Amino acid sequence: MSDLFEFHSPPTLYAVMGNPVAHSKSPQIHSAFARQCGLRIDYRAIQVDRGGFAQAVANFRAADGQGLNVTVPFKVEAWRLAARCSERAQLAEAVNTLSWDDDGLLLGDNTDGAGLVTDLLENLNCQLGRRRVLLIGAGGAARGVLGPLLAAGPERVLIANRTADNAVALADRFGHLGEVLGCGFEAVAGAGFDVVINASAASLAGDLPPLAADVVAEAALVYDMAYGDEPTVFMAWARAQGAAVVSDGLGMLVEQAAESFLLWHGVRPETAPVLRSLRSA
Ligand code: NDP
Repeated sequence: MSDLFEFHSPPTLYAVMGNPVAHSKSPQIHSAFARQCGLRIDYRAIQVDRGGFAQAVANFRAADGQGLNVTVPFKVEAWRLAARCSERAQLAEAVNTLSWDDDGLLLGDNTDGAGLVTDLLENLNCQLGRRRVLLIGAGGAARGVLGPLLAAGPERVLIANRTADNAVALADRFGHLGEVLGCGFEAVAGAGFDVVINASAASLAGDLPPLAADVVAEAALVYDMAYGDEPTVFMAWARAQGAAVVSDGLGMLVEQAAESFLLWHGVRPETAPVLRSLRSA
């Protein structure tokens, strides 16, 4: 009887909100996870006008929505809107996963950092412990991943950013979690790194951060959080400088989605088959 009831009940509603959002792979990823776990969900991509985020979240909840992913440009607004946030979201001052508790209280979390670290450690077999890490960019993505990155025990993290002051401020904010410094691009020349992560938005505009070649020459892994059908300019540049392994951020996207899925459904799906099928598509 209960099986019959479940079969006829509508699928539970989830969504990603952003602007733009049509390109988002999250509906595809979460639908694949749900199939894998035998769950019936309806996961949508909802384009939200700037200034309309809080109302869109309220409308979604009124339609019995159960969980939301949040992407550019609403992660900070989602953090402000949440009644309660996880420690990692609080530290990042950004939220990419929303849900409601039994009393209807809006809960915020940030799974971006866990997604990145899982992709590095498990999918790419890249060690972070006692490694020298260069993090390029000091925006929302950098803020979201710094806590989990430092928790993985690197020797140090240097944040390099177009606007040096933003990198210095970010390093100050996370300094209690490990060895982390901030600077402008020109100050990085001559330093070697084991892991180089591009968390800047430069790749979205087809730009290359102006870094000296020696910055990536010794790196075991060069990673661009951006992803697309073609390798980014940053990935192509790193390969040309002789970087051993170069990756885009598709694995991070899938792993952060798996963390959100775990928060909502209490089960962590297998990510490898989903990542493989996205890559082959
Ligand atoms: P933000 O707009 O918050 O931050 C932008 C950052 O990039 C700032 O540090 C800014 O520097 C810098 N920047 C922007 N343009 C340039 C440029 N032309 N040259 C050098 N630096 C530049 O963006 P996010 O942090 O949200 O996103 C950054 C990247 O991370 C994007 O590519 C995004 O797609 C990706 N991302 C990937 C995820 C994944 O799951 N794979 C998840 C989240 C993000 P300044 O301070 O000087 O303005």
